Amino acid sequence: MQVYVEKPKCTGCHHCFDVCPVAVFEMKDRASPDVNNDTAPADEQWKGQTLPEIKSKWENVQDGHKHFAQASDGTSGGISVAVQGSACILCQACLVECEGECIVITDDTDNVYRSIYK
Ligand code: SF4
Ligand code: SF4
Repeated sequence: MQVYVEKPKCTGCHHCFDVCPVAVFEMKDRASPDVNNDTAPADEQWKGQTLPEIKSKWENVQDGHKHFAQASDGTSGGISVAVQGSACILCQACLVECEGECIVITDDTDNVYRSIYK
């Protein structure tokens, strides 16, 4: 299994980190040198810019956590990195919780699963 986060869409909501039963995700500060430490292709890596349509959709939403904060405070903020994609058991919990619809999972027979926020 391979897992990556399309970083320009990640709001930093922590939902993936909170629901994953096998600790695939870690939250990194946006300035961390480890922020692209997963299998995201070059155009989905973090280069310091959030996708404008994601930013305008979420930046004013009041749902109890920070959006697009530079650093993680342990409850929200930062950016998600799929540091341990090989541990994924394809439970799909993260796929329905991801605000940015930016998690991509490829299974061992090359089927691709993408997040859709419910
Ligand atoms: S689908 Fe994989 S990465 Fe997502 S929550 Fe389940 S085990 Fe974790
Ligand atoms: S659930 Fe999606 S938007 Fe939220 S921190 Fe994880 S990857 Fe980013």
